[in-house]
Amino acid sequence: MPASRPVIAVAGLGIESSTFSPSRTEAAAFHPQRGADVLTRYPFLAPGTPLRAAADWRGALVGKALPGGAVTASAYADLSDELIARLKELGPLDGLWYDIHGAMTVDGVDDAEAELLARIRRTVGADTIVSTSMDLHGNVSRALVHLTDLITCYRTAPHEDVLQTKERAARNLVAQLRGGGPRPVKAWIPVPVLLAGEQTSTRIEPARSVYAAVGEVEATEGVTDAAIWVGYAWADEPRNRAAVVVTGPDETAVTAGAERLARAFWRARHDFAFVAPTGTLDACLDEALASVARPFFVSDTGDNPTAGGAGDVTWGLRQVLARPEFRGPSGPTVLYASLPGPAAVDTAVRAGVGATVTVTAGAETDDRHSGPLTMTGVVHAVRHGDRDAHTEVVLRVGSVYVILTRLRKPYHHEHDFTALQLNPCTADVVMVKIGYLEPELFAMAAGWRMALTPGGVDQDLLRLGHHRIRRPMFPFDPQMPEPDLTARIVASADRPPGGPEE
Ligand SMILES: [Zn+2]
Repeated sequence: MPASRPVIAVAGLGIESSTFSPSRTEAAAFHPQRGADVLTRYPFLAPGTPLRAAADWRGALVGKALPGGAVTASAYADLSDELIARLKELGPLDGLWYDIHGAMTVDGVDDAEAELLARIRRTVGADTIVSTSMDLHGNVSRALVHLTDLITCYRTAPHEDVLQTKERAARNLVAQLRGGGPRPVKAWIPVPVLLAGEQTSTRIEPARSVYAAVGEVEATEGVTDAAIWVGYAWADEPRNRAAVVVTGPDETAVTAGAERLARAFWRARHDFAFVAPTGTLDACLDEALASVARPFFVSDTGDNPTAGGAGDVTWGLRQVLARPEFRGPSGPTVLYASLPGPAAVDTAVRAGVGATVTVTAGAETDDRHSGPLTMTGVVHAVRHGDRDAHTEVVLRVGSVYVILTRLRKPYHHEHDFTALQLNPCTADVVMVKIGYLEPELFAMAAGWRMALTPGGVDQDLLRLGHHRIRRPMFPFDPQMPEPDLTARIVASADRPPGGPEE
């Protein structure tokens, strides 16, 4: 029966966590928001907006963490228990918007987002309509599709449509509830391909064309939403791979749309290439120094904290500081972001700007490739109050400006540098622990190489040693036979799933 002003809860836990990183994620890293505070996360649900007025929105608990290592069992238990307890307090629900990432790894739990949604279902019942929004680097098992009614993800990487995606998930949920029609038909297709995000950027082909078709499928009569997940390559569970889901009222239309998208992704598998030229770190630095392009960016990709790296690998910075070109203050200007080292930060803060200090930083979590790094340099800047880093200092070592942080932080914006009296536009080389450059840095970069460095999110997937993903899988099994890319119609949550996990 249509609900004129449906009651909708908002809940979810989001993180991308690497099982190849020794670091662990605790509950506080999720910055959980509760109750009405949850709604403040979403501008399209601000008071006075049409979507806010269309339903009675009730926040349960939403927490989002920076990518990192696996979530500890106790952190997951604490957060999920509280989420469930708060849902119970909200009373009967017509709908639930499940706002997740989809690549949360929890110690001892497989398919954590489906496990949590199963608990949510036991609390809210099988009749509540659930809409799930995800990152396209999330993973989609049959269990997850079974438990939700609508499901979608971003259509751009780097992710420039985060809010549009969430709004679409919320809007489609409201439309479903107010329309009161039958539950959406869900066509799910697992695609046995597992690639790094840096090989599947929608800025370039073939992902640009593959993802352009998503909107065309969505616009088809009988389709509500369409989505392609690249999946998450730095975890090792049977669910880690690409997937397609198309939802809508018409089984023929969602089937045809899903099969079109799955075939397009599979056919493109050999053409996915790194979004920038790659090389060893030394080769990338050689190219940067030989080039006249300024600033020249070098991604230190293996320890990218926004993909799940520990962020404190010292291997890359150690190579930079060992280069003779950068030994003196008149060498080419290099900005290096970044390395966590709480004791080093304390020493630099105490000494103050202009002082010369010797400090040791890094490798507290991930020391597999290189140990803690000792440096002597001049304190260039000190900044307190950052949400992620808490305190940041810049140490000039020779001609290298090293950003040291109390806690790890991603450096994605120009102001991340200018706030530290560093100008990335006029630097010779800017080296960032990152994969593909986020939009501001991409626009700024005159030259760019991705260094294939070691760490928890090593871009060389074949050397990581997956052993639990399903096989055969491209590119792990390059000679694999053609997979079954026919659509699996997954039943709604009030019925058996309609097929095995596969
Ligand atoms: Zn992502």
